[in-house]
Amino acid sequence: MLKEQINRFQAEETPFYFYDLQLLQQTLDVCKNAADKYNFHVHYAMKANFNQKVLERIQKVGFGADCVSGNEVKKAIEIGFDPRKVVFAGVGKSDREITEALQNDIFCFNVESVQELGVINGLAEAQGKIAQVALRINPNVDAHTHHNITTGLEENKFGINHWELHDCVDALKKLPHVALVGIHFHIGSQITNLTVFKSLCVKVNEIHSWFEERGFNLKVLNVGGGLGVDYHNPDEKPIADFEEYFRIFDQFLERKHGQEVHFELGRALVAHSGSLISKVLYVKNGIKKHFLVLDAGMTELMRPALYQAYHQIESLSLGQAQEGNTVKYDIVGPICESTDCFGKEVELPESKRGDLIAIRTAGAYGEVMASKYNLRAEIKSLYSE
Ligand SMILES: *Cc1c(COP(=O)(O)O)cnc(C)c1O
Repeated sequence: MLKEQINRFQAEETPFYFYDLQLLQQTLDVCKNAADKYNFHVHYAMKANFNQKVLERIQKVGFGADCVSGNEVKKAIEIGFDPRKVVFAGVGKSDREITEALQNDIFCFNVESVQELGVINGLAEAQGKIAQVALRINPNVDAHTHHNITTGLEENKFGINHWELHDCVDALKKLPHVALVGIHFHIGSQITNLTVFKSLCVKVNEIHSWFEERGFNLKVLNVGGGLGVDYHNPDEKPIADFEEYFRIFDQFLERKHGQEVHFELGRALVAHSGSLISKVLYVKNGIKKHFLVLDAGMTELMRPALYQAYHQIESLSLGQAQEGNTVKYDIVGPICESTDCFGKEVELPESKRGDLIAIRTAGAYGEVMASKYNLRAEIKSLYSE
């Protein structure tokens, strides 16, 4: 499938990101329909991919935007996201970022500490505004995902811990320029064991009651993102199970009449629609190892080097798929780091210089993490509409 789509780009210089905009659209439509069924609100977590065309498609579906920097807030509004559907999260928002977001009248700041509440209050006062805030609470729920992408445990830097909630409530009472609209949670990424979300619901219900007992009527329950995708089967399961995901929240999350439930999905919306396309520069055959040296490396796709992430790797070169003629290669990039490796002992048809290689499911946390290390050129993107 991908092979046919890439065929018309044979003459293009590699490496490049390839986005299947049709698959992206299908994914967005499935997610939107599944969320609409329960009247759930979806904000797209922009940090997963802020490619212009990708953002335009997502904005058109009617999702909001979940931003983690001032520039993301600006970009979201430029693309056409309604500021009233923009939320701003992040453990270290600068004064300038907060001020600009206030000027843009965004919907809500997801606040990560008591100190931040005070800072936002002061900056809102300077503009004569009242900032809407949600408290990002650390629910101490184990996401059962990779250690480096777990965010909801007490050992993580994110969120407000339960023993700090009294201080938050006291602060809120004293700060007239912040208004509490909700509570917010985000426990990690690439969560494939959906029972984790049941545990999250149980915690959210508890904390929700705690606030109600103290006289707070929360308008919004924001349960974050984290829904995972199947990196091992990009063709068999190209669209995540949004139906089951939302069903779990509908079943286990207690909400009051008129209360909104917000989600912040990143990876599950964009991961499968992107691939990194690269060429074999050299084949190095050793005694213990065979290496394919590609023209793409960790500077184009950092996930394997950053957290040993798995990506399916395929050869797109024609006439090579004969059975039996496979070799186990370590697939490496040209960057001067030993971690610059996309996969070890990957079984591929015997390959040669010039063969096209696809690194699949690279649409999330791929292009956005590209770096200039080794003074590498900026990576380009191509699309199938
Ligand atoms: C990264 C992030 C998300 C999106 O996570 P995914 O795993 O890509 O769905 C949502 N909310 C917050 C606060 C985030 O930092």
